[in-house]
Parts: sequence; structure tokens; C-alpha cells
Amino acid sequence: TVITNHMPTAELQALDAAHHMHPFTANAELAAKGARVITGAKGVYLTDSEGERILDGMAGLWCVNIGYGRDELAEVAVRQMRELPYYNTFFQTTHVPAIALSAKLAELAPGDLNHVFYASGGSEANDTNIRLVRTYWAEKGKPSKKIIISRKNAYHGSTVGSASLGGMAGMHAQGGLPIPGIHHIDQPNWWAEGGDMTPEEFGLERARQLEQAILDLGEDNVAAFIAEPVQGAGGVIVAPDSYWPEIQRICDKYEILLIADEVICGFGRTGNWFGSQTMNIRPDIMTIAKGLSSGYQPIGGSIVRDEVAEVIGRTEFNHGYTYSAHPVAAAVALKNLEIIEEEDLIGHVQKVAAPYLKQKWEALTDHPLVGEARIVGMMASIALTPDKEARAPFATEPGTVGYICRERCFANNLIMRHVGDRMIIAPPLVISPEEVDVLIDRARIALDETL
Ligand code: PLP
Repeated sequence: TVITNHMPTAELQALDAAHHMHPFTANAELAAKGARVITGAKGVYLTDSEGERILDGMAGLWCVNIGYGRDELAEVAVRQMRELPYYNTFFQTTHVPAIALSAKLAELAPGDLNHVFYASGGSEANDTNIRLVRTYWAEKGKPSKKIIISRKNAYHGSTVGSASLGGMAGMHAQGGLPIPGIHHIDQPNWWAEGGDMTPEEFGLERARQLEQAILDLGEDNVAAFIAEPVQGAGGVIVAPDSYWPEIQRICDKYEILLIADEVICGFGRTGNWFGSQTMNIRPDIMTIAKGLSSGYQPIGGSIVRDEVAEVIGRTEFNHGYTYSAHPVAAAVALKNLEIIEEEDLIGHVQKVAAPYLKQKWEALTDHPLVGEARIVGMMASIALTPDKEARAPFATEPGTVGYICRERCFANNLIMRHVGDRMIIAPPLVISPEEVDVLIDRARIALDETL
């Protein structure tokens, strides 16, 4: 049989359940109810096999920044596939898509972040970063500087290395993670962990955990600190204002490389090209993926400062992926960046979409279930709570309130994700005020149905 969109949904679901193992999914449970079959998409809307239109409040996985259905990207991909579908840049060769994309990224990235090492996504790029920072210090005659400090509840990817960098307890529990040489400090999540402290006191306290960790582990043993400018998959956790300046001071003082994981925050999501600009930090390395190609092709990488590239360049860095700087992915990414620029999507986020969404999003705190509402640019979260005053958490096992709310959103044709008892959104940056209204209306209905 030829399997197409035109087959009955139940048959597609049965075949899917029989042969496809879904990531981050309890597959037996999903098989029992059937996965929703997505057949197409345009703008901010998905279409399913039953003809329903679903507002994608997550831009896929925080990545379809320019929205769905952009023919320009398809055309570039077809042209590049005909001209040069594949070649690597390992052994003394290069190609125009790699050259052009790297030059463009150097232009867009702040300061002297001028050099790009490519991967197929964010996880691989963070694996690269582990080897990159250790190689950097070894080349500088400090081979003992190996430990990378990260944060609990951070998400840096799913490979063994990147999941070890991440601080997700549920991921560490499967497969014997983390690998040695990674140290986790607490996250700056004031709502859940701030106790009686003001947000500013708490931000300082959490940042100073980095300094304490460096002192405990020994300055000569620490290579880098990695963090997302705004924690995404952890629940859109925005650090208090006091946090990042203190982190920057500590990294500078102890000569610790600062890695900003921009996989979600990059390419307009926070209202600037990079989250580091929004948070006013100066990373030595930025991890990029997702919005780099708006998800139209799998591509990621690490952008590094001049001095880091110079030091790494002294040796043969024995690292790379078959698809590093894949020509089709690179050409599509470049076109995606041109669209973000030409259509001034950053301006649209700053002036139109984000202020409008912010007002509507923060108003959700009038709902009896909603405690805190946080938003930076086009990424936002609400904390569900049984007691707003006490900032009390809900239980988070399967079947609890976050799961119910996600299901109610889904049933009302809105994709909103849940992380524990937080609900999160990160819609395509092209979303219009009218579409924000639809998103908020459906979110309110889902919240009412969750009560
Ligand atoms: N880093 C961050 C901050 C992410 O949010 C993600 C994915 O969600 C990754 C890394 C991993 O990227 P990928 O899924 O492309 O491997």
C-alpha cells in the first residue's frame, strides 16, 4: 500500500503505532488513543487529517519563527539540491552555502562572535561545545580546566553529552547520566524556589552559587558555564534582573568561558537577534539551532569569539559531523535569516506581537488557576497554582493539572505545552494581533475546562 494523507485517520494511526517510536512519549499510552496526524501547515496554523485547523502556540518545537508554508525556502532548497545536494567541509574543501551562512552569522552575532562550527541541531552543537571548551583550555596550557557548570532544570539536548549538560532529573535517571565533569547549580526560578526572598535577592543568591561552585571545584578545574538566557523547556523561567550581571562578573573574574545556549532564544524569539542581547551578556560561545532555519532544515552550530577560534585553530580539532554545514540546510538557513531581516520580524516582535501578547498574557493571572505570568518577547509561561498567595505548586505526575490543561488546549485546537505545572507558549514570530486573540481565547477556554 502507498501511504498518503488521503488514507483514513484510523489506518494512519494504526500504522504509526505499529512502527514509529515517538520521542519524549509513553508510546503504549499514545498507541491506545492514536497520535493526531498533522498533514499541512500555513502561517501559524496546522491542519490535521480530519481537516481541523490548530493554532500552533509552540511554533513546532520553538523553531518555526517565520511561520509555516514559506515557498521561498522550498525554492532555495530545490535549487541547492539540484546544484550541489551534498558535500562536506572536512578535508580542505568548502562550498558557497557554508561561506555565505557563516559570513551572515558573523555579521548578525554581537561583538567578535565571528566563527561558526556546524552541527545538525542543538544537541550535537552542545556536544561540540563540551569538546571545544576542553580543547581550548588544553591548547592554552591549562588541561585541568575541564568541568562545565550548568543548571538544574536546564535543557541542552538529548544526546548523552548534551543531556548531561542539561539538568533534567527525569532524563538523568534514564541511561546513567550525567557523564563525569559536569556540575549543576540551582536554577533562578523565583516563583517556585524563591521562598521569602525578593526576586532581586534571590537572583543574586542563585548567581553566587556559581562563584561558590568555582571556589569549591577549584578555578583551575572549571572550563565553562553554560546556560540558556531564558530557560525554555524548563518552563520559560526568566531570571530576576540581578542574576545575569552577577553571572557575567563571576565568569570574567575567574576566567570561565560563558556559553549561552541560544537554541530557543536566538533569531528573534526574545525580541532581539539573540537572547544574550536581551539579557545584556557577552558570551564566548553561543549554541544555535531551531530558528536558524525556522525548522525548515535540520541545522545547528556553535558561534565562537575570535580568540576561541584562534586557539582552537592552532590544532587539528578532531570533531565534526557528516552533515556539518550541509549545503541544503545552510542555503535554507541563509534564506530564513534574510526573510527575518527583510520583513523586519524583530521589529514586528518588539513593536506589534510581543506588546500585544504581553498585555493579554499577563491578564491571564485573573484566572483562578493562574499564579505568575512571565513573558519575554515571544516566549511565555504561566504557573498554575491551587493557592496564589502561597505560590503553591500542583502535583506534576502524569494525569495531573498540567497534563489536563494541555489536553484541553489540544481538544480546543491550540498547541500549548506543559512543563510540570507551568503552561508555555512560543508561537511563530509572524503571529498577528488577531491570531493572538484566538490563542488567548482558546487558552482561557482550556483553563476553564481544567478547573
Ligand atoms: N538547547 C536548548 C536550549 C534547547 O531548547 C534544545 C531543544 O529544545 C536543544 C538545545 C537541543 O536541540 P535539538 O533538539 O535541535 O538537538
